[in-house]
Amino acid sequence: MDTENYSIKGCFAMTELGHGSNVRGLETVTTYDSNTGEFVINTPCESAQKYWIGGAANHATHTVVFSQLHINGTNQGVHAFIVQIRDADGNICPNIRIVDCGHKIGLNGVDNGRIWFDNVRVPRENLLNSVADVSPDGKYLSSIENPDQRFAAFMAPLTVGRVNIAISSVYQSKVALATSIRYALTRRAFSLKQNEPEVLLLDYPSHQRRLFPLVAKTYAMSFAANYLKMLYVKRTPQSNKIIHIVSSSFKATFTWNNMQILQECREACGGQGLKTENRVGQLKGEYDVQSTFEGDNLILMQQVNKNLDDWPRS
Ligand SMILES: Cc1cc2nc3c(=O)[nH]c(=O)nc-3n(C[C@H](O)[C@H](O)[C@H](O)COP(=O)(O)OP(=O)(O)OC[C@H]3O[C@@H](n4cnc5c(N)ncnc54)[C@H](O)[C@@H]3O)c2cc1C
Repeated sequence: MDTENYSIKGCFAMTELGHGSNVRGLETVTTYDSNTGEFVINTPCESAQKYWIGGAANHATHTVVFSQLHINGTNQGVHAFIVQIRDADGNICPNIRIVDCGHKIGLNGVDNGRIWFDNVRVPRENLLNSVADVSPDGKYLSSIENPDQRFAAFMAPLTVGRVNIAISSVYQSKVALATSIRYALTRRAFSLKQNEPEVLLLDYPSHQRRLFPLVAKTYAMSFAANYLKMLYVKRTPQSNKIIHIVSSSFKATFTWNNMQILQECREACGGQGLKTENRVGQLKGEYDVQSTFEGDNLILMQQVNKNLDDWPRS
C-alpha cells in the first residue's frame, strides 16, 4: 500500500561510477553481522558510488541496492537489498550521502543522483531473497549452485524494462513520422516552372525516399512490438530465455532505429524541426538515453548473439 500511495518512493541503484554494463564488476560490498541480524552495506571507494540513479537526487525514500555479498569471507556475487535513504520528511538518512548528477541532454524531469553508503545497516529481511538467502546465523543459502545461473536469475526481473523501452520507442518514431509527413503534405518549396505553384515536399521523390522506408520500418517495428507484448504477457518460466533474447534484440534495434528516424524527421521538417513545440527535435534529447540504459544496446546485442544457439529452430 505504501508504495501504491507513494509514501514509499523507490529507486533502483545498480550502476556505479566505475561499472555500468559490467554489473558483475560492481564494487559496493555488503557483509552480514549475525550478532545483530543485519546486513552492512558499504561504498569502499569512489568508483563504487552509485551513479545515475533515477529518483535518488530529490525524491526517493527507498532504493534497491545491487551489491557484492560477502559471507564469511566468500564473495557470493551480486545481490539486491532494500535500503531506506530518506525519512518521510525527505531528510537523507544517516551514513548515506546523495548528490544530484546534474543537468543532462534530456530527461531532466528525472532527478538522477549519486549515492554513497557508509556501513549502512539494514535488517536481514531486506535482502531480496527469491534467488538466495542468508540464515539468521549467517549461512548462505541458494538452490542455484552455479554462480552464472544465479546471476542470470537475479537479472531476470529486469526484462520488463527492456520490453517497455522497445515498445515505447516505436511510439516516438510514430510521433516524429506523423509530424514530418504532415509537414511535407502542407509545405511547398520551389516551382518547376515560372508562375506554377510550388511543389509539395512529399511530391519530391527524394523526400519520399527519405520518409517512406522509415514508415515501412515503423510498421514492421509496431507489429514486432505487439508480438513482444504478447510474448511478455503470456510468459512462463520456460519462455523466459526467449523473452530475454527477443526483448534485448528489439530494445537495441528499435531504439537505434528510433534515433535514426527522429534525426531524419527533424531534418525533413527543416527549421521547424528544431522548435521544441514541434516535439521531433525534443524527442531526440529525451530518448537518446534509451540506447544506453536498461542494458547498453551493443552489450545487449552481444548477449543476443551469444544466446542465439538456444533459439528454437522448428
Ligand atoms: C539518464 C540515465 C538514467 C539512468 N538511470 C539509471 C537508474 O535508475 N539506475 C541504474 O542503476 N542505472 C541507471 N543508469 C545507468 C545506465 O544503466 C548505464 O549508463 C548503462 O548501463 C551503461 O553503463 P555505463 O554508462 O557505465 O557505460 P559503459 O558500460 O562504460 O559503456 C560505455 C561504452 O562502452 C561500450 N562497451 C562496454 N563494454 C563493452 C564490451 N565488452 N565490448 C564492446 N563495447 C563495450 C558500450 O557499448 C558503450 O558504448 C542511467 C543512465 C542514464 C544516462
